[in-house]
Amino acid sequence: MPSAPARSARRRRTPTAPELIFGNLWEFDPSPETADPKLKAQYDLFIDGQFVPARRGARFTSINPANEKALAEVALADESDVADAYAAAARAFPRWSRLPGAERGKYLFRLARLLQDRAREFAVAETLDGGKPIRESRDFDVPMAAAHFFYHAGWADKLNYAFPGARVVRPLGVVGQVIPWNFPLLMLAWKLAPALATGNTVVLKPAETTSLTALKFAEILQEAELPPGVVNVVTGAGVTGAAVVAHPQAAKIAFTGSTEVGRQIMRATAGTGKRLTLELGGKAANILFDDAPLDQAVEGVINGIFFNQGHVCCAGSRLLVQESVVDEVVARLTLRLRSLRVGDPLDKNTDVGAINSGEQLARIKRLVAVGVREGATLYQPPCALPPKGFYFPPTLFTGVQQSHRIAREEIFGPVLSILTFRTVDEAIEKANNTAYGLSAGVWTDKGSRILKLSTELKAGVVWANTYNKFDPASPFGGYKESGFGREGGRHGLADYVTLS
Ligand code: NAD
Repeated sequence: MPSAPARSARRRRTPTAPELIFGNLWEFDPSPETADPKLKAQYDLFIDGQFVPARRGARFTSINPANEKALAEVALADESDVADAYAAAARAFPRWSRLPGAERGKYLFRLARLLQDRAREFAVAETLDGGKPIRESRDFDVPMAAAHFFYHAGWADKLNYAFPGARVVRPLGVVGQVIPWNFPLLMLAWKLAPALATGNTVVLKPAETTSLTALKFAEILQEAELPPGVVNVVTGAGVTGAAVVAHPQAAKIAFTGSTEVGRQIMRATAGTGKRLTLELGGKAANILFDDAPLDQAVEGVINGIFFNQGHVCCAGSRLLVQESVVDEVVARLTLRLRSLRVGDPLDKNTDVGAINSGEQLARIKRLVAVGVREGATLYQPPCALPPKGFYFPPTLFTGVQQSHRIAREEIFGPVLSILTFRTVDEAIEKANNTAYGLSAGVWTDKGSRILKLSTELKAGVVWANTYNKFDPASPFGGYKESGFGREGGRHGLADYVTLS
């Protein structure tokens, strides 16, 4: 309890304008999430329903990017382990694919419920392994992953309704799936749920920096008594991923990751008869018109780029603002940036957590330096970053030109490039002037304008007066260098079946 003179001294101080709105008045005490992530010191591969060490005994370390401390040793799979996983998946396929859909659905419901039961534990594990704020893994990643299993459980016995007109809906066989590090558990759910609902069996490879929730999910597969071999998890880096892609038993490869690796996979699968879906990078335009409700739009822009530290394929990383309101929008954005809390991902107050790896942090720093050299104006709010771990402050660039690399390349970090436009046609032209085509956002009061833009923007998803909204029933995927194929909804199921 402060003494009376101290209290009156505090009353006398006049806060500055930004403090009045966001500043020191909002200091919170730390509020760390304390649930036990139940991590093991060592993880093996998950093949044929069992945890088995890699044949050669190799391992790699998964670290916590928030403090660079080791979390667990993970088995490193080579070609022979990948071959074991495919053999197990091939053995499991005939029985699994012939199970009545309602029975497959029961397994999927069980997986969804078991994940819900262990939601807090999984949220903490995801945050420790990947660096994302606990608020996001708790409120978005884990519930959305469960929602994907629930949604696809519902389809498992209704596939004929998903494809009206088709007499027979057949699974493809064994599917190889390779996923990235930005939404490890959610990408696993996007991949496994439709594959299993349609009767395929799977060899899945998580990203090397974030394997732990996939391996914890393998515990759930055991707990659900999923038949051995239906899902196999092999861990490792690009070499392991390449072995998953190259294996002759794969009927389909489903990949989410960078455009560069997507290209390699397309080359590796060309002429093999394997089906392929690629969910790749993006450089989305978030387009803000002068008639938009600016406060809501600014919140949407902040969410669009700083969600998950900007490690989001559909991040609204290019903000196109109508020239007449650019000064006002930039003023509101810079003020809002000052209130973002950067730091310990396990703290429930944190908005921007840790960058996923030292390598990714170096890439962000490199591209930001390029932006400064190219003549854009950088703004970063004053914020103290933790001394250990990989962190980058929320960053805005104004005065960005179309030709700048920060307007063209995916930075995959908390960095927003702001450009301007005058007319609707100019906004469409600038938004489409990119090699990518994954997503876009439109902020305006006019419904007719929304309809025009959602038709003319070459992007798989166009959000209107909102951003980063997802639903398992809504297909997600790209055009151009953002890839092909869809995940979610009936379109997503179609990529795992043949129809006759
Ligand atoms: P990445 O391409 O480096 O790695 C993705 C996965 O591929 C990892 O598991 C990695 O080990 C594996 N891999 C690496 N080389 C391989 C090879 N030669 N053959 C087979 N597999 C290989 O991507 P990343 O850095 O993990 O993820 C970030 C990228 O993912 C970004 O570009 C982002 O936009 C994209 N992404 C896209 C979506 C989408 O739905 N479109 C979703 C999330 C992330």
